[in-house]
Amino acid sequence: MKKGVDPRVDQSRVSQLMSILNDGEVITGQQQLAPFGFPPEYRPDALVLPREGKDLCALVRWAQAERVALWPVGGCTAVQSCIGPFTGGVAVSSRKLNRILEVRPDNLSVEVESGVTAHQLQGALQPYRLTLPVRPPRPRESTLGGQVARNAAGPKALRDGGIRDYLLGANFVSPTGELIRAGGKNIKNVSGYDVTRLMAGSYGTLGMLTSLVFRVRPLPEREGLLIMSFDGYEPALDAARSILLSPYDAAFLHLWPAHLLAERGFPAGEKGWVLVACLEGLAELVREQAAALAEIAAQNAGACRVLFEEKYFDEYYRLYDAPWGDRGTGERAVYGLIAATRKSVADVFNGWVTGVQAIDPLIWADLGRGQVHFFLEEAAEETLFALRRLAAEHHGALRLDYPEVSYYRPAGPGSAIWMVQRLKQALDPAGILAPAARALKGV
Ligand SMILES: Cc1cc2nc3c(=O)[nH]c(=O)nc-3n(C[C@H](O)[C@H](O)[C@H](O)COP(=O)(O)OP(=O)(O)OC[C@H]3O[C@@H](n4cnc5c(N)ncnc54)[C@H](O)[C@@H]3O)c2cc1C
Repeated sequence: MKKGVDPRVDQSRVSQLMSILNDGEVITGQQQLAPFGFPPEYRPDALVLPREGKDLCALVRWAQAERVALWPVGGCTAVQSCIGPFTGGVAVSSRKLNRILEVRPDNLSVEVESGVTAHQLQGALQPYRLTLPVRPPRPRESTLGGQVARNAAGPKALRDGGIRDYLLGANFVSPTGELIRAGGKNIKNVSGYDVTRLMAGSYGTLGMLTSLVFRVRPLPEREGLLIMSFDGYEPALDAARSILLSPYDAAFLHLWPAHLLAERGFPAGEKGWVLVACLEGLAELVREQAAALAEIAAQNAGACRVLFEEKYFDEYYRLYDAPWGDRGTGERAVYGLIAATRKSVADVFNGWVTGVQAIDPLIWADLGRGQVHFFLEEAAEETLFALRRLAAEHHGALRLDYPEVSYYRPAGPGSAIWMVQRLKQALDPAGILAPAARALKGV
């Protein structure tokens, strides 16, 4: 048995791949790989597109024997934040594993192959007025396999949680090349270790997902965007706190400086800061909740309006997915987020505005996900230091998305990383599956 991972995939290995994959495709050459969306510093030697989950079993066994690294990918929308740069090896794309296997409206569940995109799934659920309420950015590219591997959570995480909360079953190919079936089609289908959920957030390191079963929910009768505007961010945060503690059930609650919304043409009101809440459910309930939240805003000197038309949701999600617009490529620009707890969002927000950048703060908060997002035109070393300190003070993590993806998470007692690394070592000692995944380093 060879030692270590050998990343080179030469012509003879390409021929071997072709014979393994039956009906699937093998693609080589950087030009041919370009349409798959790999960032420049991610350079697999080959990419394979299996059409059947079972072909992956032979592929993994081959990779173990040859000691070739495999990089599972879906739409490649989140590769940089999930895996460190790599050269060589074989990217395994789920794009051709894209069948909706079964929609079961009476069981409120759906079974799909891992390469089905969020957009495709929504189209299949629409006739039944059902939904999987986890909306990723770039839904036409983002696959369900990628979302599960990353344990994605969308804007409505405040009320709806993340994709793990909807995952009932997962079929995957283990690092030894076996097809494993975890979970099932019902809510209570696990006794013993919940392997299905272990796969959510495993970043391709423990297996390649082939198909997934989700529970789904009926679409709401009505959706409304409540726009609450305030003179300052302090009264807005006070109102947000009251809303979070109230019995009213906002699907999301986001705090923005009004100018960030206004510059993209979104109706942001006359005041300086805006809280945006999403309300959904029966039409009457949405009206009642909107009135109650308007009352909370008024108690904090805020003004309120509700937007019901779908076009506002589309505009708002475009903004949410890319809040910094076309800012952002200056030499010393930095953007990212501090992820803390919902409770400490207000403190992080205050700390940023008073300690990092007081004037024209480019900052917004997702109060449901406990995240404070920021953009700095000019980030000096001491500013980055202040951001790390701010994250540490609130037991949070700092993630920079630009100029390059990096994480800062203060190490502390009780970190689960030792268990992650031992699990990986036990199941995939040669490190064939996604060996450069950031999750293996505890970030
Ligand atoms: C700028 C940006 C910011 C985002 N921020 C967040 C965020 O903060 N929180 C959040 O939850 N989501 C976020 N997302 C969305 C989410 O991470 C992706 O939509 C999701 O991961 C699916 O993407 P994909 O299909 O493109 O997967 P890829 O980008 O191809 O892969 C993502 C990860 O999943 C693994 N993977 C992919 N397919 C499989 C498979 N079949 N089996 C095993 N492993 C697999 C890959 O190895 C990789 O680790 C963000 C996306 C973008 C573009």
